[in-house]
Amino acid sequence: MSPYAWIETSLKTIRRANWYRSTQTIYSCSGAVVVLEGQEVINFASNDYLGLASDQRLIAAAVNAAREFGTGSTGSRLLSGQRLLHKELEQAIASFKQTQDAIVFSSGYLANIGAIVALVGKRDLILSDQYNHSCLKNGAILSGASIIEYPHCDIEFLRNQLSIQRQNYRRCLIITDSVFSMDGDLCPLPELLDLADEFSCMLLVDEAHATGVFGESGAGCVEHFGCTGRELIQMGTLSKALGSLGGYITGSTALIDFLRNRAPSWIYTTALSPADTAAAHAAIEIVRNEPQRRMQLWQNVEYLKQLTQKYLPNFKILPCSSPILCIQLANVTDALKVGKHLKAAGIFAPAIRPPTVPTSRIRITLMATHKDVHIEKLVEVLRNM
Ligand SMILES: *Cc1c(COP(=O)(O)O)cnc(C)c1O
Repeated sequence: MSPYAWIETSLKTIRRANWYRSTQTIYSCSGAVVVLEGQEVINFASNDYLGLASDQRLIAAAVNAAREFGTGSTGSRLLSGQRLLHKELEQAIASFKQTQDAIVFSSGYLANIGAIVALVGKRDLILSDQYNHSCLKNGAILSGASIIEYPHCDIEFLRNQLSIQRQNYRRCLIITDSVFSMDGDLCPLPELLDLADEFSCMLLVDEAHATGVFGESGAGCVEHFGCTGRELIQMGTLSKALGSLGGYITGSTALIDFLRNRAPSWIYTTALSPADTAAAHAAIEIVRNEPQRRMQLWQNVEYLKQLTQKYLPNFKILPCSSPILCIQLANVTDALKVGKHLKAAGIFAPAIRPPTVPTSRIRITLMATHKDVHIEKLVEVLRNM
């Protein structure tokens, strides 16, 4: 028997559990309406919260950077990969987040892995929210630290564990999404910061879905909760509301300097491409200068919430405080059925199911560029199911 035969067997098991996934292709520019596998659909599946991924200014910035500096950055940051564009972007992020310095990675996934691995090791403890994103979980595993997964947002459990366990470890790191990516709720950031202070722990907060979306200036949940300036490690991505590609860590000068010396997923990988770097920088300027985009996004969130309360009383909507709204379904089969029905009716809102999340759901993400008619159509299709 071939040593690879188990792969076919494993695929069959995945299919039997209804866990099998495959890709779908979009044939148009990103936006509120896209062409999905030949069908025009209203897009409720995108992380492009502000509609910046198709903004002409980002496109121009990317094109100009590619013309001037080429397509690839040709090396790692510490060797030949750095351009002035990278340093300018990092300064822009630090200024946006009101921190001392920032470092950009080739993706958000790599940012979390690199930071966690650099900050803790075998003698240390990580406390991780059970609903954290895959890259926080895998970063924790890779670090070799002891890991305690705490029940979702359970501050009392966390306090209890810290009072028992903290003394047995050298360093302690609490890691959490600020906006939970598959649920749309927020972490109790002020309480987490207080706990971190009390038990002398570091706190890493993942602002992937908050950057550009939350806070007066769009800086994220840290700003939203009034925690700007408090000592912590903030991670975010350039690939969601900022419409580009890449991730960042921002914090104190010492922290960032340390990561430049110790984060393997930054040191041993090629620097972000000139086009992605320039597009992300252009996006930060727009986020700062055009709060009306964020306001429109939040108006859309309110409108959808209103309509669901009025017309969809039979659906179980998960409590959410973000542009991510989830409809909870009894099981995988139901979730897939609703997802298919929506798609047939011209709505792109995918079913999210185990193992990504513990319970099956339809996940709807809103954008500033959705029109009222798009939201009305979504609710109408769900109502007539
Ligand atoms: C998307 C996401 C990431 C990864 O960011 P990428 O830039 O796409 O690699 C990390 N954390 C959370 C919570 C996310 O939703």
